[in-house]
Amino acid sequence: MSKTDIAIIGGGINGASTALELAKNGLKVTLLDKHSICKGASGVNAGTLTMHMTRAQLIPYAKKGWELWMSTNKWLSKDIDVEKRNGLCLAFTEDEEKLLNERSKIRKEYGADIEIISKKEALRIDPNINKNIKCAAFCAMDGYVSANQTGYAYSKALKEHKVKILNNFEVTEIEFSENNYTILSKTGEKLISKKLILATGVHLNKALELLNIKVNIKCLPQQLIVSERMPKVMDTVITVANGKLSLKQFKNGTVLIGGGWPGIGSAEENFTATKSENLIGNMRLACHAIPKLKRSRVARVWLGLEAETDDAMPIIGELPDFNNAYIIGSIHSGYTSGPYMGKLLAKKILGEDVDLSLFDIKRFL
Ligand SMILES: Cc1cc2nc3c(=O)[nH]c(=O)nc-3n(C[C@H](O)[C@H](O)[C@H](O)COP(=O)(O)OP(=O)(O)OC[C@H]3O[C@@H](n4cnc5c(N)ncnc54)[C@H](O)[C@@H]3O)c2cc1C
Repeated sequence: MSKTDIAIIGGGINGASTALELAKNGLKVTLLDKHSICKGASGVNAGTLTMHMTRAQLIPYAKKGWELWMSTNKWLSKDIDVEKRNGLCLAFTEDEEKLLNERSKIRKEYGADIEIISKKEALRIDPNINKNIKCAAFCAMDGYVSANQTGYAYSKALKEHKVKILNNFEVTEIEFSENNYTILSKTGEKLISKKLILATGVHLNKALELLNIKVNIKCLPQQLIVSERMPKVMDTVITVANGKLSLKQFKNGTVLIGGGWPGIGSAEENFTATKSENLIGNMRLACHAIPKLKRSRVARVWLGLEAETDDAMPIIGELPDFNNAYIIGSIHSGYTSGPYMGKLLAKKILGEDVDLSLFDIKRFL
């Protein structure tokens, strides 16, 4: 049986970022995962760091997250590919033009540096986009990360800061007594901790149930498509006004197509399967936005499970009626803001005056 100051259950971007910040501030941290670091949503997501698809209220957090991603060599690792790109959000019809104006205006009010530009200006920024657009929204704060490298980069940084990582530790029971949490795994391992953080992604509801708390967490099965390598077909990160596309070309020539076209999946059953009509719809839209994509072939398709609360806003902060127990997750565009959200929760635990009232779990209890 081992002991720790703080046990974090779930080694995705949220748990790992919180762990790193706490360890940097001198706490003895143990990070537990039923698989290994960032192999859930945080390792299979599209890695898009765009303001065009972020919920308006979360823009201030996404901006801070974007800044952290752009400086990973200073606080995380050199072993992760991060690219800054211009972001264009395209409108093809008059209705979409109206939608783009409305959505960009709201995001701007929350601090996103987005401006509506003419078709001519959009084509100057990226000559590869469909020439039939009506207009576009431009944001220089955009880009992407190669999400499949997240686990390696975080594991290295966490080990450097003496975080104890327990992989293959599936938490099935949590007991609370005398100001300590006793955390038990499926295979009978035991860990005692003074503080507890739940960061189990799409399994947050299951982790909360271990403490007799009931909160509905929806599971969104998201599909992604990657093309074979091809010569340069685009310079920007592309999204569209109705929010159903995210598109960028990596340095190796492959193009990643996403945008929230759902597949089939269940967190409970740990199961995913593709929905072919949605793959086709997603690819059609991608080829419409960047016509040169019609020349490419699909190399691979995969899915990941994303967590969402009933109001699509995150849950971050203290768990009421427990001593020193916290939660973090269900964050829309959660990969973009994850490093910053983790830092915020760590600061709160370290006693700093951090306002997390927007994300209080009490709204669901
Ligand atoms: C396909 C897809 C594409 C996406 N694209 C983007 C994007 O382009 N940009 C963006 O900003 N966001 C994107 N997202 C959202 C983003 O990936 C998530 O918001 C974020 O990764 C969630 O991080 P997390 O740490 O909360 O969860 P996760 O990364 O899922 O981590 C949770 C961890 O908890 C572990 N765990 C669960 N239960 C237990 C247990 N009982 N015991 C121990 N460990 C347990 C799991 O093994 C897992 O490693 C996408 C999501 C998906 C699925």
